[in-house]
Amino acid sequence: MSKGVVIVTGASRGIGRACALQAAAKGYAVVVNYTANQVAADEVVDAIVHASGQAIAVKGDVAEEADVLAIYAAADKLGPLVGLINNAGVVDLRARVEDFSAARLHRMMAINVIGSILCAREAVKRMSTKHGGKGGAIVNMSSAAAYLGSPNEFVDYAASKGAIDSFTIGLAKEVAAEGIRVNAVRPGLIDTDIHASAGAPDRVVQFRSAIPMQREGSADEVAKAVLWLLSDDASYSTGTFITVSGGR
Ligand code: NAP
Repeated sequence: MSKGVVIVTGASRGIGRACALQAAAKGYAVVVNYTANQVAADEVVDAIVHASGQAIAVKGDVAEEADVLAIYAAADKLGPLVGLINNAGVVDLRARVEDFSAARLHRMMAINVIGSILCAREAVKRMSTKHGGKGGAIVNMSSAAAYLGSPNEFVDYAASKGAIDSFTIGLAKEVAAEGIRVNAVRPGLIDTDIHASAGAPDRVVQFRSAIPMQREGSADEVAKAVLWLLSDDASYSTGTFITVSGGR
């Protein structure tokens, strides 16, 4: 018998994958969402099931409302929703603001901002006591970029994470009396595939010395903060942030 269902968006790789594995180890039934990489998502599900946990892989682009509804329909079949780890997010190639195309900006905001808000909307509909739910927790994935600004790399990405911070504060206040806590984690430089997506596979090595701890973080270190915020141990925390950035 699971502790209830947790949806992890973007759970096939990186930080989402680590969150899915840790959530399953804590007894949640996990929806492993991915958008393209089915092999990687299936590997996460296999690892969870092999460890006697419960998980399903569900393909879906969080920027597409129909896909978000399908992800939640699949989750509803698994059991009652108790949490959302709103993790899916993208960067783009390093560029200065004057070189940004409108298409780039629309994609970034559609996935990182609108996708996160749509996923949270569906979670609220299911978990809010106002709608007959039993409460729950949402953890949004922000970034240290929200306060660093990421000049000369991806100011658009930083702005999308700034939006996630404001959304976290506002939604937390909106649903605080309805049994739902909403918090966010702000990772710093974490060793995942995302840097290669920005055309900079060596970015972690390049920026390591700028971190006060002189090292990058791991997806597991971020997931530990996420799982704490998701848990009842964080029962009086809402609308707040944990920065996991080695001091930067
Ligand atoms: P990653 O290694 O690139 O993994 C991205 C994950 O998101 C993959 O599972 C991917 O699925 C999924 N995904 C991408 N677009 C999606 C969409 N439209 N709908 C649903 N899923 C989608 O990224 P990561 O480094 O783990 O980053 C995860 C989150 O942490 C992001 O929100 C990112 O902004 C944030 N973050 C990362 C860092 C860092 O240094 N790594 C720092 C701060 C914040 P597929 O496998 O199917 O492509």
